[in-house]
Amino acid sequence: MTVVELIERKRDGGTLTGNEIRWLIDAYTDGTVTDYQMSAMVMAVFIRGLNPEELSVWTEAMLASGDVLELSAIPGRKVDKHSTGGVGDKISIPLAPIVGACGVKIPMMSGRGLGHTGGTLDKLETIPGFTTSFTADEFASLLGAHGVVLGGQSEHLVPADRKLYALRDATGTVPTIPLIASSIMSKKLAEDLDGLVLDVKFGSGAFMTDYENARRLAETMVDIGSLRGTRVVALLTNMHQPLGREVGNASEIRESIETLHGRGPDDITELTYALGAEMLMLGGAASSYDEAHQQMIDAVESGRALDKFAEIVTAQGGDASVLDHPERLPSAEHQDVITAPTAGWIARCDARSIGVGAMRLGAGRERKEDEIDPGVGVTVEAKVGDRVEAGDVLGRIHWNDRYALGVAMPLIGDAWEISEKPVGPLQLIVDRMESQP
Ligand code: URA
Repeated sequence: MTVVELIERKRDGGTLTGNEIRWLIDAYTDGTVTDYQMSAMVMAVFIRGLNPEELSVWTEAMLASGDVLELSAIPGRKVDKHSTGGVGDKISIPLAPIVGACGVKIPMMSGRGLGHTGGTLDKLETIPGFTTSFTADEFASLLGAHGVVLGGQSEHLVPADRKLYALRDATGTVPTIPLIASSIMSKKLAEDLDGLVLDVKFGSGAFMTDYENARRLAETMVDIGSLRGTRVVALLTNMHQPLGREVGNASEIRESIETLHGRGPDDITELTYALGAEMLMLGGAASSYDEAHQQMIDAVESGRALDKFAEIVTAQGGDASVLDHPERLPSAEHQDVITAPTAGWIARCDARSIGVGAMRLGAGRERKEDEIDPGVGVTVEAKVGDRVEAGDVLGRIHWNDRYALGVAMPLIGDAWEISEKPVGPLQLIVDRMESQP
């Protein structure tokens, strides 16, 4: 067997055996299969797909390419949440301390922003001193001591995905269901979880813009969980407009702190509690949605959720005084506003335009090696369904670099559409699915 034969077979619509897939992933991870050969293979997979058996072995082979966390010594069920990524999606930041304060263990591994979508690690690192990089032993001991860790993906976990994702990013082969599902699920399965909650997004700001494709992605990931015996719940959520009001890095931490005080925007609060309820049920801390909801409200109203966040920030080397003084977090030097040209109802507040605009301001990365500017971003003042008068502020642009502003302004300015007729708000959570027990 040669790699060229495997590429040709997949190119022509054939299937690969389990042994062939295991060999391919191993040989790519150790460098025997080159980047150019694997590029051809992932393009063949992009076009031809993987059948369920191929996908299952592909995911297992990715998982087997590196270490797997060993958390069994830590008592209690471990549950994580993963979002397929969006604009203004800071949900993990309030969610982890709220659910952690209710007693479920959360070994959370998040990513960095790339393209128009933000990354939880970049946001957290705007807190002075906050670290997200740990060895497996440090990660386990933080989880044992505090019940929650907000860390990054270790280099030793699923190294095949680290290489493959970079390759896909550079070869136009990211947005395909089998490769996304195996990439996400191999990393999540390596966390030794009892349960996983997926926030699968659709809409202009999501990887999968189309609802049907997002639904198929969710089903595929839930099926991988069922095959592996890991309980998975997926919510399908709307990413046509940004989540919350803030799109940036430090500004999203400020909005998360507000949410932990119980004063967050409605959509952030709704989604945090919906995902949190699933985590509490998977984690055995609540037996119904209502019970879980009440536990989370109690944790927020009593201040335990905010205290848990302060505990996590301190444990991870950060300066928890910013929770009482969020004004100490970085902010931009200048502000410009976008105003409504006419009166009416907001019919569109486009997540992608705002996300790409925020990236151009410096809030995100075009390439992995780019530096981010923690203070810049966009405040979304008007969302779909809101009534506005001519001259009302639709958005505020927080900027540091005039050239970047010039590039971002037309994109952000184009994000809103105003209708003369009333428009209803967008439904945020559209569907739910779960794995077979
Ligand atoms: N996120 C991942 O981790 N992998 C993908 O392939 C796409 C999004």
